Amino acid sequence: MDCVDASDGGDLSTCDRCKRPLIEIDHYGHRFIGCIECNRWGWRGSKRLLMELPEEELEALRRARRYP
Ligand SMILES: [Zn+2]
Repeated sequence: MDCVDASDGGDLSTCDRCKRPLIEIDHYGHRFIGCIECNRWGWRGSKRLLMELPEEELEALRRARRYP
């Protein structure tokens, strides 16, 4: 059983795989939300993370972000 309650109306707020909080990024002028650990990204408001970013972009994100 694996049921995570998104706080507001089903918007994603944590990764359904690793349960980390999702982060929001700016990708060539588009806002994406997703998990930097699993490399799964989607649009804000979407219910699924479907996209993968190239490894070098993940690297850049990891460098730019301060990871807790
Ligand atoms: Zn994840």
